[in-house]
Parts: sequence; structure tokens; C-alpha cells
Amino acid sequence: MKHTKLADTLKTAAVLALTTAIGFLLEAMGLSQTNVITVYILGVLVVAAVTSSRWYSTAASLASVLLFNYIFTEPMFVLKAEDAGTQLTLLITFLAAVFTSTYTVQIKEKARLSQQDAYRSGVILDTSQILQKAGEPDGILFAAATQLNKLLKRDIACFQTDGNGILPPVSFTDCSPHPGSRGPSPDTLEEMSAARKCYMEGNETGAATSILSTAAFHYLPVQSAGTVYGVIGIRMGETEPDDFENSLAIAILNQCATSMEKEFISRKREEETAMAKAEQLRSNLLRSMSHDLRTPLTSISGNAGVLLKDAGTLDEAHKHRIYSDIYDDSMWLISLVENLLSITRMEGGAVQLHMETELLEEVIDEAMRHVNRRHENHSIHVTQEGDYILACVDAQLIIQVITNLVDNAIKYTPDGSSITIKSYKDNGNAVIEVSDNGPGIPDESKDRIFQMFYTTGHKSADGKRGMGLGLPLCRAILNAHKGTIEVLDNTPSGSIFRLTLPAEEVSFHE
Ligand code: ADP
Repeated sequence: MKHTKLADTLKTAAVLALTTAIGFLLEAMGLSQTNVITVYILGVLVVAAVTSSRWYSTAASLASVLLFNYIFTEPMFVLKAEDAGTQLTLLITFLAAVFTSTYTVQIKEKARLSQQDAYRSGVILDTSQILQKAGEPDGILFAAATQLNKLLKRDIACFQTDGNGILPPVSFTDCSPHPGSRGPSPDTLEEMSAARKCYMEGNETGAATSILSTAAFHYLPVQSAGTVYGVIGIRMGETEPDDFENSLAIAILNQCATSMEKEFISRKREEETAMAKAEQLRSNLLRSMSHDLRTPLTSISGNAGVLLKDAGTLDEAHKHRIYSDIYDDSMWLISLVENLLSITRMEGGAVQLHMETELLEEVIDEAMRHVNRRHENHSIHVTQEGDYILACVDAQLIIQVITNLVDNAIKYTPDGSSITIKSYKDNGNAVIEVSDNGPGIPDESKDRIFQMFYTTGHKSADGKRGMGLGLPLCRAILNAHKGTIEVLDNTPSGSIFRLTLPAEEVSFHE
């Protein structure tokens, strides 16, 4: 500041000396005094243009009139104007100098302000893009702090919040001239209490305010709609930021607060949606469970009751039918509970895949051992195109998928239907198709059958209502394998469930 004052004074003196010298020259050349006056006015204009305050051009106006009077008017080298003509000339010269310098200063100020405006708009635009990209709330706060450090060239202390108070500060000093060398660090007791007060009260505190003003940082709340999302401290250093810097900082903090508020609201909404979805899932599950579990459980307990009471009087064939019913019902319950467990684990991401390179043929054979025993009225064919199809899979889970698909084909097609399990290699993928010639799946249900608890309303052959969990589980398993599952129409009727898994290359070592 002192430096500027001295430079401006020297500039003013130099311009006045130069104009006086030119005045001497013009007079020596015999030119009229009007020319000398014009040179002085020009000089004042130059002073207005090159100095930083209007006081220099006003002082130059006064000095020009005095110099002109002292050097160029009669009586020479005396500060005196005797005749009315000279007095009027001096007055007009003074007024002309003051007016021109005032206008020059105003134009300069306007140019400076519009330059600042353009710079400010640029910075705000940049900041809003940076904040948008930052994503999570902490990232937004840090991005704003980085931007402030870059623009103000001052140390920035950034305090995140945990909802109850402020966390220890994170410093941003990369763009400060001498990071950390000018005063206390922001985690000292005094600084922390100023920052905490700023957070609690939502007001500016610390240096340059009336609250805890001995602090080294000026603390500003990052707040929107009454909620404080963080606190930013700006180190004051030797000079306080000017109005322009202050307004820039406040604009950035407002942007930061709005972005953080938006982010918090959208997170809250996502959480609420997830909770509502979980709640709906839970109530659907409870409804389905209470409805669907009752039938097989009543049947099991009824049959067990008959055996307990009348075992002695029943013939072997009757007893065998009852045993077999109990077995089927409990198998149904087991597969339902297994699907349910697997799907909740898959959805929650809690499943650890045990991936190993497997021969598809063996996986399908193993699955066929698990399919519903009651398929004597369906003809099942297993075929494979080409030899040795390998895929890196969790065999246990893929077996569960194939079993579910074949069981469905048995359940949802009438007696006498034929079911085919075909495997082949296609474009680097291992493909398994389970097809039947039953009623098929209507187009409007093709996507929805993979949603939890969706059933098309087809009654299964054994009269048990499905729970709509098998296919969602299959999709979750295929997704976890980076594979796909889709349903297509079979010709002339029925459906084809096609699984695609990334295949492994076969290599034989001698
Ligand atoms: P669930 O069998 O327990 O109902 P799924 O998710 O396995 O549950 O099947 C969803 C629905 O898709 C079934 O209710 C059934 O209506 C239909 N579906 C599945 N497989 C077939 C098939 N092969 N043929 C006809 N409909 C089927």
C-alpha cells in the first residue's frame, strides 16, 4: 500500500515536471499561453490515467494552475493574478482539469468494475462446474476450499461437520505464497473455538469480525436454509481481503452450500426410496409367506397326524403315498426357503462366489439330479453341441439356476410336455437353453417375471401357487457371474430360457 502511494506521488511529480518543461519550450517557440494550458490539462489527464486514486489528479489540477500562474503569467515567478482576464483563465483551467480528470477516473473505474464482473462470472461458472463434478458432500466442500485458495491466494481451513459439531480442519495452502508461515495453524484452541462458534451460530466469526476477533482466520458458515454444512476459514494475514475478494468468497460459499444442500436432499430421497422399497419387499414377503407356507405346512402336519394316529390300520400303499406327500411338501418348502435365503444374500451383496473352471456338461448333469422327482409325465432331453464347453462359474449357484428353470418347466407345462436342456458355445460365450412346449410367457410378462414376487397367474401342475422368487434369483446369480438370462418364445409354443456365461478356452496339457 505504502509502495503504491509513493509510486503514484512520483508519477504525478514527473508528469507535472514534464508538462512544465514542455510549457517552457512552447513559450520559447513563441506560441500562445493557450497551448501551455492545454499541455497542463493533458498532463492532469495522464495523471488521472496512471495513478490509483482521484486525489492525485485533483492535486495535479491544483498544482498545474499554481505552476502556470507562477511561471507563465505576469508578474512572472510570483503567485499572483492581477487582471480579471488572467484570474478567469486560471479558474477555467482549474475547472477543466478537474472535470477531465474526474471523467477519466470514472471511465477507468467502470472499466475496472466490468473487468472484475467478467472475471467474477468466469470464476463462478468454473466453480459451479467444479462443484457439480465433485459429487459427494465432502468433495463439494473441498472443491470450494481449493477454489478459494486458488483465487484469494490465502490459506483456507476447511471444517467438515458430522451433524453434531465440526471435525478437525483440513488445510488448503497449495496456492498461498508462504503456506503455514504466517501465524497459527487452524487446529489451535482459539481457532477451533472461533470455527465452532461460527458453526453453532451460523454467523461469521474470527478475524475481521466482532466475535473472537483475535483469531488468525475469518470463519464463514457454508449454510443454506438454516442448515450449516461446514465452515470455511480464510487466513487474514497482513492485509484483509478487499470488497471484491469478499464478494467472490461469499458467492463461492453460497454456491457450495446450494450444491451440498442439493446433494443431501437427493441422498435423503434415495435412502427414503430404498427404505420404502425394503419395506414393501418385507410386507410382500410376509404376505406371500403367510399365504404360501400355510398350505404345505397344513398338509405336512395333517399327514403326520394321520400316520401318528392310524399308522397301524393303514396299508403299505396308503402309507407310502402319505410319506411321499410329506416328502414333496417339505422339499417344496426347502426349495422355497433356499431361494429366499439366496436371493436376500445375493441382493445384499453378501454372497461370496466360489468361481472355478467347470465343464458345463458336468454342471448340467449335477443339476438334473436335483430336479423335482415328479417329472415322470414329462420327457426331458439333455443335448450339447460341441465338446468340452468350459466356463468359470460358482457351480453350486449355476446348478440352482438350472434346477429352478427345469422345475418351472415341469411345474408350468401340462403332462406329456417335452423339456430340452441344450448347451453350446456362441461368440466366446457358454450358452445354456432350457426350453419347453408349454403355454409360454406372454410378451407383457417377459420382463416382469424376473421381478420379485411376480407371477403370471398360471397355476402350476401340482396346484401350488408360485412365490415369484425363482427367476429373480436366477437373474441375480447370472448378474453376479457377468452373464445374462432372457426368455424367448419357443416354436410352435412354449418358452426358452437362455443363460449366457463368459466361456473359458479349452487348453490341453500333454
Ligand atoms: P414361481 O415359480 O415361484 O412362481 P418364478 O420366479 O420361478 O416363481 O416364476 C415366475 C412366474 O413365471 C411363474 O409364476 C410362472 O407364472 C412364470 N413361469 C416361469 N417359468 C415358466 C415356464 N416355463 N412356462 C410358463 N410360465 C413360466
